[in-house]
Amino acid sequence: MFNFLESVQTYGREASQAAQYIGQGFRVTFDHMNRRPVTIHYPYEKLIPSERFRGRIHFEFDKCIACEVCVRVCPINLPVVDWEYQTSVKKKQLRSYSIDFGVCIFCGNCVEYCPTNCLSMTEEYELSVYDRHELNYDHIALGRLPTSAADDPMVQPVQGLAYLPPGQVERGQDFYREESSDDSL
Ligand code: SF4
Ligand code: SF4
Repeated sequence: MFNFLESVQTYGREASQAAQYIGQGFRVTFDHMNRRPVTIHYPYEKLIPSERFRGRIHFEFDKCIACEVCVRVCPINLPVVDWEYQTSVKKKQLRSYSIDFGVCIFCGNCVEYCPTNCLSMTEEYELSVYDRHELNYDHIALGRLPTSAADDPMVQPVQGLAYLPPGQVERGQDFYREESSDDSL
């Protein structure tokens, strides 16, 4: 009789523990059902990067004075500036300019220090190719205007951070605003 009562008690305790675990599992499930998905349906949906996103570099040939500051400030001396000296006008004449995005770390130093602002970071992030040599962009490829998910009628643009839960979006935006206002001081 005593053994029977003890086994009933053990059974009851284990059943209650199992119910508790099932409840915890459902709590996690319902919590995730309330959240927005973490992933997007790429390539049918594409994220719009933030304003400070450092994507493919855009280059304006006509503005470049071949000073090579971008090469000196680059941590790996990456930009290749090919120029010749024009004795008639005593000026450098730019012949070609290239950046290899297979090596570039997108630090933005060249953009920051260029005296004529002929370099700029774009929001273009789809740079994958089958042959890595195709990542070596000459001045013509660098001069191409960047593509934007917002301008592509074939894809659904998704605002940056929209994939996070609403609370986190607001916190992220507040943090960004605080940073921006600090910069403007
Ligand atoms: S720093 Fe700017 S202007 Fe000077 S060579 Fe580089 S891209 Fe041209
Ligand atoms: S972004 Fe940085 S690594 Fe890339 S070329 Fe400019 S300075 Fe060099």
